[in-house]
Amino acid sequence: MLDGLVGDLERSAWYRGQIAHTANRPGSTAQHATATISAPFRDELDRRGIELYRHQADVIEAFRNGKDAIITTPTASGKTLAFNLPVLAALHDDPKACALYLYPLKALANDQLQKLVALEAACDLQLAPATYDGDTPTSSRARIKRTSRIVLTNPHALHQYLPWHHQWARILSHLRAVVIDEAHHYRGVYGSNVAFLLRRLFRIVDHYGGKPQVILSSASIANPETFARALIGRDATSINEDGSGRGEKRVWFWDPLVDPTRSVTSQVASLLSFLTGRGIQTICFTRTRASAELIAQSASQDGAPEIASYRAGYLPEERRSLEHGLRDGTIRGVVSTTALEAGIDIGGLDAAILVGFPGSLLSAWQQAGRAGRGTAPSLLVFVPFENPLDRYFFSHPDDFLGRTRERLVVPLGHPRQQAGHLACAAAELPLPEAELTPEETELAAGLCAQGLLASTPRGYVYRGLRRAHEIVSLDDLSGETIRMVCGDRLLETMDPVRARRDAFPGAVYLHRGETYIVDRLDLDEGLVVVRKDKPDYYTTSLRASEVEILAREEIQSHAHHALEIGRVRVTESFLGYKTIHADRTVAVHPLDLPLHIFETDALWIAFPEGLTDLTPEHLLGSLHGAEHALIAMAPILVLCDATDLGGVSAPLHPQIGAPTIVLFDDASEGSGLSFALFEAFDRLAERAHTLVRDCPCTLGCPSCLLSPRCGSQNEPLYKPGAIRILELLARNPETPEAVR
Ligand SMILES: [Zn+2]
Ligand SMILES: [Zn+2]
Repeated sequence: MLDGLVGDLERSAWYRGQIAHTANRPGSTAQHATATISAPFRDELDRRGIELYRHQADVIEAFRNGKDAIITTPTASGKTLAFNLPVLAALHDDPKACALYLYPLKALANDQLQKLVALEAACDLQLAPATYDGDTPTSSRARIKRTSRIVLTNPHALHQYLPWHHQWARILSHLRAVVIDEAHHYRGVYGSNVAFLLRRLFRIVDHYGGKPQVILSSASIANPETFARALIGRDATSINEDGSGRGEKRVWFWDPLVDPTRSVTSQVASLLSFLTGRGIQTICFTRTRASAELIAQSASQDGAPEIASYRAGYLPEERRSLEHGLRDGTIRGVVSTTALEAGIDIGGLDAAILVGFPGSLLSAWQQAGRAGRGTAPSLLVFVPFENPLDRYFFSHPDDFLGRTRERLVVPLGHPRQQAGHLACAAAELPLPEAELTPEETELAAGLCAQGLLASTPRGYVYRGLRRAHEIVSLDDLSGETIRMVCGDRLLETMDPVRARRDAFPGAVYLHRGETYIVDRLDLDEGLVVVRKDKPDYYTTSLRASEVEILAREEIQSHAHHALEIGRVRVTESFLGYKTIHADRTVAVHPLDLPLHIFETDALWIAFPEGLTDLTPEHLLGSLHGAEHALIAMAPILVLCDATDLGGVSAPLHPQIGAPTIVLFDDASEGSGLSFALFEAFDRLAERAHTLVRDCPCTLGCPSCLLSPRCGSQNEPLYKPGAIRILELLARNPETPEAVR
């Protein structure tokens, strides 16, 4: 079906040669293996004609051998079956054994419940799997605690239920398995909150005598072992070789800039109707619901058959009918926000179009994985936007297709966060001093001084007036939470920093693919009031930061520069905000918000001998340009958003006394990013250098140096100097010149 497609496209009247290059990711043949599984499961697999893939057999064997495991094979490789089989087998062998499944989102837990119910029925088991969260009707709660042997929940709910552990004694004392699915959601500050929560869970389980093994499942990442170790505090066997056999993937790199007369939206609509018109069932991913609807609408006007649009927040019946239509082929194309990226079962399609790079290779390949049926070839079209990350992957297909994945960072060193979880743990069960690390003992002493803990013969117990579990929020560290509401609906919670930055009055705010406008931000009351709207512009706050270095942790000296990491104090002022339409600033508005001062981790690059080959008038523009490029490329190495990092450049930093670029974790207390980038700094500098050097512009453009978020409106920037600095940073003195 895909053969001759490019030729057909070239004969289309609207095509202007946008396919800049193509690439092939070769397919692979399936690799099967056998594993020891008990009779009812063996029979069920035979009935369904399923032969186990090697990675599935590996998970089963690892579990049988008493090991924890992390599986990171791609979308649609049968990960769910890989962990369900050994867990259900364990529950079959021991009639009292129970399992806990943790999902980041309620919708995913509900999907998983359907699969478990089906498998339970097919294998004739009595497990009564059930979801248990804020939506569970009161009338079912007691029954679930009494009879269910598999409970599915989410971290927020678990955090609330742990103090009531005695009600869960049956399950906890017979807990045989903990499944943590879609584990890549647990990263950054949220990830470390979940990590502390899991340690609390394991402590309670241990108290009841349960001996669970853990299986984590995640999208492909660069560091499965260290990630698992950080998240669950135990070593897990990594299973990452996909044995499922895949079809070849043909990739088109589509350059929308080739036709300046038509918007990206309208080009994608034409492409979508071209593909679906040839019987190629296609899914198209966009960032916002507004653009998803626009593309679907405009493709239908082009005469494309049966195009649907899909977003988060659909009613279950709407969703099911769409999923059904996609599976039986009555719907030929769908334009979706990232809501369809994970979990939901729509079967394989023939082609996927990625409108804009979704921020990480992890997401990009989850989206791409939606296309592909068995070993048949499938098509992927990447349509970049005009920003550094998109254009980098557009012009570096090997990086896009390669096996590189981002690292997931779980920062566990925040004293305030740790203290919060320590208080919760003491509220759950007394904390004997002997169980604590020296660091925790110090934190416990601090909590005692605040009157939150008391030392008793049984250990530390919680003595606070408010419930410990209300003081600790899993979403942030500061303990202050701002609630974002639309009418009487709570959309999300955020810390005051994010609120100032992204939810200032007048801001256009994106929440799960929907756009809102902020009417009011009340920091004292902890409230953001928004209303739904469809503006044709977006906004960005203009901020300026000053960075004071508090402590140095490590210094790497190089020939002409020093790379350092440590603790800093950031003072951030809000200058105003910009409204941007079609990538052009339409207006700048003033903002009246208090200064924000926070401590965080940072890395900085100092040039102690100065940068003598740059003239003084170009120095700041060169440093500033290099700073932008480094920040823009950070998401290639560590799973993050460029907005998670802040930057400051100074021709003469007052504390260092030399030209300096500072990159800092844009979150109070730090998010672990600076440390991760410090370790991979060579690669970061190399990518940033390649990006800027290879960009055809002369002065810097949105694809290389310009940042829509720059607090100083991208002034000054000097591209030749930025290239010079990045070249210097990318050159690792340990590596001989010839190798590069
Ligand atoms: Zn450029
Ligand atoms: Zn800037």
